[in-house]
Amino acid sequence: MTAAILDGKKLAKQIRDELRDEVADFIENNAEVPTLAAILVGNDSGSEVYVRNKVTGCEQVGMQSRMYRLPAETSQDELLSLIAKLNKAKDEPVHGILVQLPLPKQIDVTRILPAVSPLKDVDGFHPENVGRLVQGKPRFLPCTPFGIQQLLVRNKIEIAGRHVVVVGRSDTVGKPMALMLMQRGLGGDATVTVCHSKTNNLPEITRQADILIVAIGQPKFITAPMVKPGAVVIDVGIHRTGKGLVGDVDFSGVSRVAGHITPVPGGVGPLTVTMLLVNTLAAARLLH
Ligand code: NDP
Repeated sequence: MTAAILDGKKLAKQIRDELRDEVADFIENNAEVPTLAAILVGNDSGSEVYVRNKVTGCEQVGMQSRMYRLPAETSQDELLSLIAKLNKAKDEPVHGILVQLPLPKQIDVTRILPAVSPLKDVDGFHPENVGRLVQGKPRFLPCTPFGIQQLLVRNKIEIAGRHVVVVGRSDTVGKPMALMLMQRGLGGDATVTVCHSKTNNLPEITRQADILIVAIGQPKFITAPMVKPGAVVIDVGIHRTGKGLVGDVDFSGVSRVAGHITPVPGGVGPLTVTMLLVNTLAAARLLH
């Protein structure tokens, strides 16, 4: 078997094309341009690339972005006061606020995420928004799992009633992914198992997955014998190697067993940025 490719790049373009029209309508009706404020603290090269992609993405769909670059030695209080200013911004509207992670070690991320107004929290990390997701009444869905859900739904992959195994329980990917797919309704109704580094007999569990979603940060960790023939495999991992980018899944082996698979690059990554743009328009609508 050779797996069909789930093309995230193509879907990201399609969603951005739809978004461009919606943004134009919003501007016409509200005389205001949806605006994202992106805060980058320090000089991490990976974070620089991610923020640049987000800023460029805004321009591509007709939205505005404001980039706030703070030095690596910025104090927690300085960052909190910038966030407070952006939360209130009225004369120069800011609809969405993004604080690029990771933050330098003198800053406690658990103090920063709740400081962003929950109405402008386009990453969906504020405790109020996480709580709403748990209750099945989401305001902003975290961007990576949101993109994965769109990839499954728009490719007409059956989710309801199927066994989804999520490997990884991070607050940003694994945990919200599991929550989203277990909710009632479209894009949900799955039976979800969550695995992590303390899980016993991992291959035995991954082999039961109709849909296997992997976000562990271990290059090529999931191999063909860990996958049920015909399964849908979603690879969230991104690792830079001498031979280019690879994921958490051994693509060449697993694509011979799986029914569908996401490539790295060109799978989940382009959708993550795109869903941030979707959330920014949603935030602008909330404030009007
Ligand atoms: P984290 O490091 O925050 O979490 C990793 C999770 O994987 C943890 O729950 C950990 O378990 C689990 N884990 C680690 N090793 C194993 C193992 N051997 N077996 C089973 N579980 C394991 O990672 P993230 O969720 O932030 O990111 C995961 C990957 O996805 C990274 O490569 C990251 O770069 C990439 N990523 C890609 C994005 C995209 O847009 N494509 C967006 C975000 C992340 P435990 O909790 O027990 O420690």
